[in-house]
Amino acid sequence: MTDKYDVIVIGAGPAGYHAAIRCAQLGLSTACIDKSLDGGGKPVLGGTCLNWGCIPSKALLDASHKFAEAQHGLAALGIRTGEVSIDLDVMMARKGEVVKGLTGGIAQLFQGNGVKALAGSGKLLAGRQVEFTPHDGAVQILQAGHVILAPGSVPVEIPPAPLTDDIIVDSKGALEFAAVPKRLGVIGAGVIGLELGSVWGRLGAEVVVLEALEEFLPMADERIARDALKILQGQGLDIRLGARVTGSEIRGKGAKRTVTVTYQDKSGEQHVEVDRLIVAVGRRPYTEGLLAPDCGVNLDERGFLYVNDLCATDAPHVYAVGDVVRGPMLAHKAMEEGVMVAERIAGKKPLVNYDTVPSVIYTHPEIAWVGRTEQQLKASGEPFNVGTFPFSVNGRALAAHDTQGLVKVLADAATDRILGVHILGAQASELIAQAVIAMEFDASAEDLGLTMFAHPTLSEALHEAALGVAGHAIHMVNRKKRK
Ligand code: FAD
Ligand code: AMP
Repeated sequence: MTDKYDVIVIGAGPAGYHAAIRCAQLGLSTACIDKSLDGGGKPVLGGTCLNWGCIPSKALLDASHKFAEAQHGLAALGIRTGEVSIDLDVMMARKGEVVKGLTGGIAQLFQGNGVKALAGSGKLLAGRQVEFTPHDGAVQILQAGHVILAPGSVPVEIPPAPLTDDIIVDSKGALEFAAVPKRLGVIGAGVIGLELGSVWGRLGAEVVVLEALEEFLPMADERIARDALKILQGQGLDIRLGARVTGSEIRGKGAKRTVTVTYQDKSGEQHVEVDRLIVAVGRRPYTEGLLAPDCGVNLDERGFLYVNDLCATDAPHVYAVGDVVRGPMLAHKAMEEGVMVAERIAGKKPLVNYDTVPSVIYTHPEIAWVGRTEQQLKASGEPFNVGTFPFSVNGRALAAHDTQGLVKVLADAATDRILGVHILGAQASELIAQAVIAMEFDASAEDLGLTMFAHPTLSEALHEAALGVAGHAIHMVNRKKRK
């Protein structure tokens, strides 16, 4: 007998587990297949985000930031600590506990909502049938009314730096170093490279980041990227731009192994020797073994599953969500797509607003933005006004002794509608939500300016930057004529 479900979801990362839970909440019989195993070989839910991405990286970022603060940041506040040291085993074990708690939480949510969790691989066949291969047991053919594909992404590997067990690693390996490397190389100054470089730099590694592009963080606002580069370099990250890695060679034996990395820059071929090398050059959609040739789902030219704005594939009643489809590879984008598709299957009509997807880099200070950058607006020729406000004169930032960075608000010159908000500063990841809400409701800079913000808060910097769009910021001398 073939098991039948209203919906079968393949993948239990943020995209898939959100889709599955929402389907079940809406009364649809739902199964979710996932093949991930933890370090001990047990099935785990939560995908990359919970197991090898967002959560473990933030556990290490937060721990290493506290260590850096204890080492260098507390004396100015009148707190004497004596010598501070790390216990990496405890730090790693705590990270593991956080992950375990959250992935176990998904299992409970599945159970509580009636989602059937199936541990093993799923493959889409023709006619909305799914071949399920359990980790232990015989292959089963399942029948679905609708299928949601959410298989996520995997790290890109590059021929100049093939991965080895523990010397040349991807982001997953970099979350599991058994000791702090003395010298660490990172290929790629993207989000993941900067976050992992920051973790190990704070814990004591000498970090060199090799980035092929001449420009730092080209997707961020230029002013923010420029200021962020200076701050991160000031923290000791040796970020080399225009440095394209072309080769790597492991030398020595056992614990004494090192990697000589070869790269090309303006002056020609260069070498740098490190003890560990992280390859963080991006991620690619993961579709291996997912699709039978006649299932009707197509890929786009970059290997992503091809979908329309509503995440529908070319096969009727088959959807795809998350990292495996176009758009930013971010957990919150994946979650919203999962929920949208579940609700559409249930006959509702939600949309994902791709214009208000926030981006965050969890360095310290954090970098967060939503909407368009100044350089994008200039290139498009749209007239706009700018308001900026530095944290160096924000009362709460001064009180907290955390004053680096600024807020920048870009608004349409004619309508004052907010077009983009860019934040470099402590808790930028939290502050950006206010800008996302404002943009979601089509707010003008004046709307934000007329809103009351609690004092003293970091959020007041956003308030002042919004006021600054029309030259009304109170705590800044402004040459713009008051209107
Ligand atoms: P995934 O989370 O990759 O989940 C897909 C799941 O499907 C996996 O469990 C996989 O095993 C399973 N699967 C695949 N194929 C099959 C199959 N055929 N059968 C059964 N199961 C299958 N994003 C943020 O928004 N914020 C962050 O701070 C952040 N930090 C990150 C840090 C790191 C180090 C990394 C690597 C990523 C980070 N990301 C972050 C990105 C984020 O993890 C992804 O955007 C997110 O996980 C995508 O969710 P997804 O559900 O599409 O895919
Ligand atoms: P992201 O896609 O945000 O994770 O960033 C990955 C970064 O890696 C990009 O900025 C790429 O330019 C960079 N990159 C890719 N290949 C190389 C290489 N061979 N050497 C140095 N940097 C690279």
